[in-house]
Amino acid sequence: MTPVVRTERLTKRYGHTSALRDLDLEVREGEVFGLLGPNGAGKTTTLRLLLDLIRPTRGRVLLFGQDLASHSVGARRRVGYLPGNLALYDDLTGVELLKLLAGLRGHRDVTAALRLAERLELDLGRRAGELSKGNRQKLGVVQAFQHEPDLLVLDEPASGLDPLAQRELHAAVREHAAAGGTVLFSSHVLSEVEQVADRVGILLDGRLVVVDRVDHLKATALRALTFTFAAPVDAEVFERIPGVREVTSNGATVACHVVGDVGDLVRAAAGLGLVNVTSAEPDLEEIFLDYVERRESHVA
Ligand code: ATP
Repeated sequence: MTPVVRTERLTKRYGHTSALRDLDLEVREGEVFGLLGPNGAGKTTTLRLLLDLIRPTRGRVLLFGQDLASHSVGARRRVGYLPGNLALYDDLTGVELLKLLAGLRGHRDVTAALRLAERLELDLGRRAGELSKGNRQKLGVVQAFQHEPDLLVLDEPASGLDPLAQRELHAAVREHAAAGGTVLFSSHVLSEVEQVADRVGILLDGRLVVVDRVDHLKATALRALTFTFAAPVDAEVFERIPGVREVTSNGATVACHVVGDVGDLVRAAAGLGLVNVTSAEPDLEEIFLDYVERRESHVA
């Protein structure tokens, strides 16, 4: 099957800055793909290249099997885009904006958009200029979904949304994919990608360094756990548990890293008079370095 998105050695330089280097990426129909990376990694650059908003220095983009350079207008009609730096007509209300876009896009049925606005608890009667940051983001999300596009390209869609709206957004993304649509979104939060994506690509310094299924990444990702006990414990017990590393202890507190399933570790801790446990997500560089290290030691 022809991939919905395909990039070939896609490269973008701004003067001496390499924003994106030799990106080869494929996103298939019905798939939710999360592009993950820290600030400045090249996520926005990638998404803007896919929308033909900027042109590559080298390489090319194929959308729906067609070269974007020669089929830009037709391809973009089939894409819903939420930009990172959302610009809205501040004098228009939400409804007026959706109607304007409906006319421009030739997709006059706004029923689905109204339903999504309701799910996100967005008041479409307010002028965009009066909306809070989170509500502007909701309006951005609604306009991206509005014409029921085959492909959704969403730049940090959850940014500024409260947890309830994030949940609705993620549900809408999954429903879009379940109905055969395709979604490519960016995020700098692993847990968000884990919740909603089928596959993930990690970008670092303009390079795609990992592409993997989310369930696999989840099963092998590094996590940091800190346990607090009622009284000091012998931390050596933890060092013997498979997947556990970097154990440090300070009296009744034990911190460690664990790869994959935390079940054995938590059970061992629970038997020692556990009072509290906190779990933190290591930053993406740590996850990436750990992932590459283990992959290399696997191959060796
Ligand atoms: P963020 O999460 O901060 O939005 P990002 O992963 O989306 O980051 P990009 O915005 O794609 O990253 O930026 C990638 C690199 O390209 C950065 O070093 C950035 O400073 C640079 N860059 C992006 N746009 C421009 C531009 N118009 N002119 C010069 N450099 C740019």
